[in-house]
Amino acid sequence: LDSKVPMNLLEKNNFINYKSQLENLRVVKSRLNRPLTYAEKLLYAHLDNPHEQDIERGVSYLKLRPDRIACQDATAQMAILQFMSAGMPQVATPTTVHCDHLIQAQKSGPEDLARAIDLNKEVYDFLATACAKYNIGFWKPGSGIIHQIVLENYAFPGELLIGTDSHTPNAGGLGQLAIGVGGADAVDVMANLAWELKAPKVIGVKLTGKMSGWTSPKDIILKLAGITTVKGGTGAIVEYFGDGVDTFSCTGMGTICNMGAEIGATTSVFPFNKSMVDYLNATGRSQIADFAKLYQKEYLSADAGAEYDQLIEIDLNTLEPHINGPFTPDLATPVSKMKEVAIANDWPLEVKVGLIGSCTNSSYEDMSRAASIIKDAETHGLKSKAIFTVTPGSEQVRATIARDGQLETFEDFGGKVLANACGPCIGQWDRQDIKKGDKNTIVSSFNRNFTSRNDGNPQTHAFVASPEMVVAYAIAGDLRFNPLTDKLKDADGNEFMLKAPVGLGLPPNGYDPGENTYQAPPEDRSSVTVQVSPTSDRLQLLTPFKAWDGKDATRLPILIKSLGKTTTDHISMAGPWLKYRGHLENISNNYMIGAINAENGEANNIKNHYTGKFDGVPETAGWYRDNGYKWVVIGGENFGEGSSREHAALEPRFLGGFAIITKSFARIHETNLKKQGLLPLNFVEPEAYDRINPDDEVDLIGLTELAPGKPVTLVIHPKDGEAWSTPLSHTYNSEQIEWFKYGSALNKMAASSA
Ligand code: SF4
Repeated sequence: LDSKVPMNLLEKNNFINYKSQLENLRVVKSRLNRPLTYAEKLLYAHLDNPHEQDIERGVSYLKLRPDRIACQDATAQMAILQFMSAGMPQVATPTTVHCDHLIQAQKSGPEDLARAIDLNKEVYDFLATACAKYNIGFWKPGSGIIHQIVLENYAFPGELLIGTDSHTPNAGGLGQLAIGVGGADAVDVMANLAWELKAPKVIGVKLTGKMSGWTSPKDIILKLAGITTVKGGTGAIVEYFGDGVDTFSCTGMGTICNMGAEIGATTSVFPFNKSMVDYLNATGRSQIADFAKLYQKEYLSADAGAEYDQLIEIDLNTLEPHINGPFTPDLATPVSKMKEVAIANDWPLEVKVGLIGSCTNSSYEDMSRAASIIKDAETHGLKSKAIFTVTPGSEQVRATIARDGQLETFEDFGGKVLANACGPCIGQWDRQDIKKGDKNTIVSSFNRNFTSRNDGNPQTHAFVASPEMVVAYAIAGDLRFNPLTDKLKDADGNEFMLKAPVGLGLPPNGYDPGENTYQAPPEDRSSVTVQVSPTSDRLQLLTPFKAWDGKDATRLPILIKSLGKTTTDHISMAGPWLKYRGHLENISNNYMIGAINAENGEANNIKNHYTGKFDGVPETAGWYRDNGYKWVVIGGENFGEGSSREHAALEPRFLGGFAIITKSFARIHETNLKKQGLLPLNFVEPEAYDRINPDDEVDLIGLTELAPGKPVTLVIHPKDGEAWSTPLSHTYNSEQIEWFKYGSALNKMAASSA
């Protein structure tokens, strides 16, 4: 039971911690004294302090110690830059970085990859050298999509992974608790801080029976999305159980967990089972499979009688293939109803493009089932009517299907094989067959289909389905087609029906790893220099923020009093600004440009308190900083709601902000502000918000005695009139107060580890 088993084949010195996890779990079980779900076991086994942690599902905040971090290239940039600013020699938790989001689909896999390497050279060079320096595994462009690589190499039952991408839960198909987080959370764990998560509720999904014919695992999650809607999983982990679980493949379970993100779930997970053993064996990890078996009974399965907060049942015997969309992944239509629904809704009936692959659906099984339908169609002389693309999820999948013939089948069918990357799934698609604004239909095996996601055209009606169904639509070229009941005409005009797909869960001759696309961190990292060009407009090294000067703050100007909703999109806009994610100075030029100024009802037009000149928010904030003035922001309810984007907290700190004072905060944004050394404070008397004028000056008194639960006083100096004061509350605990004093959480971590 206490063997030393490495976590994977790539890192010799990282071992599986089942023994200590089980010890933690036993502590928690003796305290809670009730049966636990599988998801709970995995979470509680990773508690920082299992003896004293409050545990109430949906209520308490858990402090956790994840086993691993995975970052994709778009989010990794700022995460690593922040980590570097802490001055630590290496990451405290095993971490990998994956180059998958920045490759645009244009011509062909090899050409697109070569162009992306050229275009994104400085980002890739930075990531490659930073990974080498800080002991991070680096997966080069062309290696594949983060979630597929994690499943193939890193995931195993019982592990807790955080990933800076929303589809991180994909690894739940291998019994892992894999949760998507913002960059700030990843940085904490890299720097050895505990990671905080509100104890999730657990939704049990009971699968009974067995799928057959055209139905595939994708249809389970498409059906579930229809039941729960896009919000149904919020704050919960979806845990699958029932005899149906043992009837399909591990990669199929990955597909289901992947798309759990579409119902808002914290993550999704399957308990350790035989299909996972098969997959671990096929990917060279029999030692892990054998080790996991020893822990199956007590750790890697739910306790009998474990209770779920909500229970949903799906009968696989009667489950039909589904097509979800357009514009939202929870608009679920069974294939038997599609013709009627499509006509009634006036959806474009011609299927212009069929796209298979992506991190959701590019397993060997997916590819071989899709290829079987194409082979069948070819015996009748048919090729794809629609444009057809294939995105392999990894180099290993690509090389294996190239060796086993499926790739050739796709190409003979008229398909275009794209790079092993996200491509059209994230809008990295130079689509040429229609003009922007043309109303049209596409069907993909991806996970998301929000307006404009794939091709930037708001008139594209995007549907998501299994790869098998995508192929059927590509052959028929018509959304009304139901392969279970409808006939097609062969080249001679004779009618026939497509045979139901067949395929193997795992390659009979093993996986072909293909080209080696992994860069391991070197043993001696001291001589590695991280490459960041000082003239780059996409990347910029960070300097640690200054520590607090130990004094109360007086006569601060109000940068902006924002009116109405102020989300992270108002604070740090996305869209074209995403390219500056690794350059704090450049991205700070979007600070609060979407927020409405209470003084004039306008966005990005505020008065400089000292010069009287109206200017943009970032320009004015920068002027204050450069002229030695700290400033505050006044905001309303739920300030900073939206995403966990850490830039929304880094930017005001970079621009010289001192405190953000609001009626209330969205919790993640509030924590992010604390981490960057800003003071998030709340009006105890909300009506004070109305009394404050944008050209008042304010004092913050009581900072020298800042303590948990102790209010701070805001003194307001109106331009004309008497000063008045109002109390401000905060949610600092004593550890977080140190973050403020040191100037940031990272500064504190760096000081403690020095
Ligand atoms: Fe995200 Fe799509 Fe890439 Fe998957 S393939 S990681 S869903 S962008």
